[in-house]
Amino acid sequence: MELDKPGHVTQMRLVFAAANRHRMAIVVHVRPNIDHGRAWGEKQARIFLESVLPQAKDIVVQIAHLASAGRYEDEGVDKALDVFVAAIAAKDPRMKRVYFDVSVAAGKSKREQLQRQLRAIGMERLLYASDSPPPSALKAFRQLPLSEEELGRIETNVAPYLR
Ligand SMILES: [Zn+2]
Repeated sequence: MELDKPGHVTQMRLVFAAANRHRMAIVVHVRPNIDHGRAWGEKQARIFLESVLPQAKDIVVQIAHLASAGRYEDEGVDKALDVFVAAIAAKDPRMKRVYFDVSVAAGKSKREQLQRQLRAIGMERLLYASDSPPPSALKAFRQLPLSEEELGRIETNVAPYLR
């Protein structure tokens, strides 16, 4: 999906509304396919927040990979995430049931920014997840710039749709 295309946004709204009607949780790869070099950043995240999320106000929406396609340092990821961070800080009702999974590779270059964003999102909204095998994935997860207590909290969080 490309959030820059109104037709795609319309389709996405329909899917989210249908899931909401059926009370189904959604896990969304909100960043489009990276192979095609599609734009991803503040503008697209804002479209998602303002046009798509309101359709799913009663259900849990899990934003996969911390709004990346798997790598936090990719272009635009921090900017996109900041849109959601600001909305959470403003107690935006559209963010009420939004969670983020931390299936993401994070290098050192934006470490402090990532730490600030994770703490602003809040440990209670972060879910452990991975696309790779458990031992290496857990090791990668534990590289996130968080305290032992914070990491432990994320590891033991259970997604609301699994409770
Ligand atoms: Zn994935």
